[in-house]
Amino acid sequence: MPSKTTAKKKKDAPAPFLAVGDNVDAKCGKCKDVTKHIVLAKIGWKPTRVECCVCSATHEFKPPRPASRRRVAPAPELSPEEEWKFRMKAAKEAAKPYDRERAYAVGEVIAHQKFGDGAVISRASETVCEVVFETGTVKLIMATRATRRSR
Ligand SMILES: [Zn+2]
Repeated sequence: MPSKTTAKKKKDAPAPFLAVGDNVDAKCGKCKDVTKHIVLAKIGWKPTRVECCVCSATHEFKPPRPASRRRVAPAPELSPEEEWKFRMKAAKEAAKPYDRERAYAVGEVIAHQKFGDGAVISRASETVCEVVFETGTVKLIMATRATRRSR
């Protein structure tokens, strides 16, 4: 009777045996990276406390799995050129010469000496607007709303 020679391979193979004092890769919260650690304590095969070889911090063992990859997928991206065409078509007014002394709202179109006509796509900050030109997106300085509002 043939004996079963092919042992069933379990999918969740046990982690390599680690003894206290062994090196193990783990995530270090202080280094904010996966670094070499020394096993200080363990339960079964699982390390519980480890010491970081880089910063010497001792902490719970965290497997060196990369942090959950959160997909930050914005809406389907348009190339700058497509965005520019779309924005220029959507513009209600003719482009006005770029004037850093005034504030721009998203959707306004401006005529820039160097870049040509462009449309404001976002306000990066109080004093910076992002403008898409045919050649790409450019950040331009603008006046704050507050400046305009003060009378
Ligand atoms: Zn560390």
